Amino acid sequence: MSFRLLIRPLTQTRSFSTTLPSRLASVTQKTATESLSAAALHAGTPMRNDWTREEIQAIYDSPLMDLLYYGAKVHRENFNGREVQQCTLLSIKTGGCTEDCKYCPQSSRYKTGVKAQKLLDSDEILYAAQRAKDAGSTRFCMGAAWRDLAGRKSNFNKILDHVKVIRSMGMEVCCTLGMLNEEQAKQLKDAGLTAYNHNLDTSREFYPKIITTRTYDERLETINNAQKAGISVCSGGIIGLGEKEEDRVGLLHTLSTLPQHPESVPVNALLAVPGTPLEKQEPVSVFEMVRMIATARIVMPKSMVRLSAGRVRFSIPEQALCFMAGANSIFTGDKLLTTPNNEMNDDKKMFEILGLVSKPPNFEQGSDRKEIPVYQMPKCFKPRKEDSSEA
Ligand code: SF4
Repeated sequence: MSFRLLIRPLTQTRSFSTTLPSRLASVTQKTATESLSAAALHAGTPMRNDWTREEIQAIYDSPLMDLLYYGAKVHRENFNGREVQQCTLLSIKTGGCTEDCKYCPQSSRYKTGVKAQKLLDSDEILYAAQRAKDAGSTRFCMGAAWRDLAGRKSNFNKILDHVKVIRSMGMEVCCTLGMLNEEQAKQLKDAGLTAYNHNLDTSREFYPKIITTRTYDERLETINNAQKAGISVCSGGIIGLGEKEEDRVGLLHTLSTLPQHPESVPVNALLAVPGTPLEKQEPVSVFEMVRMIATARIVMPKSMVRLSAGRVRFSIPEQALCFMAGANSIFTGDKLLTTPNNEMNDDKKMFEILGLVSKPPNFEQGSDRKEIPVYQMPKCFKPRKEDSSEA
């Protein structure tokens, strides 16, 4: 062998692996610019809706510490890094859903022990909102296990009333009620809804393995109807469904190339529920969450990134990594729809330890106006016993 063959040219590309052999980040030894990871190259670029899937994949595949650092940098350029919004999600109509989402214990197709219930009474919903506000939440989200609102006029009218009242409490209000048509989106906007949640869940390619009862395009249509009506959109997904990393990137690609980025992007880690088809799925690691959160933060720099379901599995140091990567919202309260959530006291302690503060509501988005309407309880609201002594 000649001596010449033993010398590697200075311009040759080297590869560093992070955790998986497939995740190779190319780093050249040529110049400083060429040695930057994709996370470094794309952090802080102006808002874009024309990301290519390859660009997002390269960001996602950046060395983890780089991704964490640049996610944190973009986060701090766009938000107060200490502020984390506390949201409360209440299941106002649980179980008995006709859809077949394979992760969901509320689908009537799976034996999970979740019983079908009617819409909660108005006073129960409004008290829950008041309690959430008293505990520091600034967004209250009402979730109903419905495919859509067809044939639910009277329940929808009640929900519109709740939106008005909860908004007038000085909270952001969000709903997740299934598919929405244009008229329903407009009614929600007129009631003062801040945001509508409709997750895409995963990539277009992997989606049919998870849900067969409605299409990806139907989901996008609901998002479009909400955005057209002037409501903020909350849309994200779940990792740990059995998808490939390319599917996570595919989800982020769809979200970040919408004409308008979602105002918020929930990142959920599957909590496998016994009785669902995904009951045997392995839990995801915090590093997978960090990778997802930081990539979302870099490609959608002004969106709220919400560390959502599955948080209960993560320790305070693990959650700290997620906040560092760019998450700036959590769901508080003992339950997240039907699955367990972190204890309030544990969250309080975490905020103290990490020096986090509660993010105030943002009333300059979606259908919101700066002024808060007068708080008027609807006629259906009856005070509970513990309050009647003060009357
Ligand atoms: S995720 Fe929503 S739509 Fe799907 S089964 Fe559960 S409640 Fe129904």
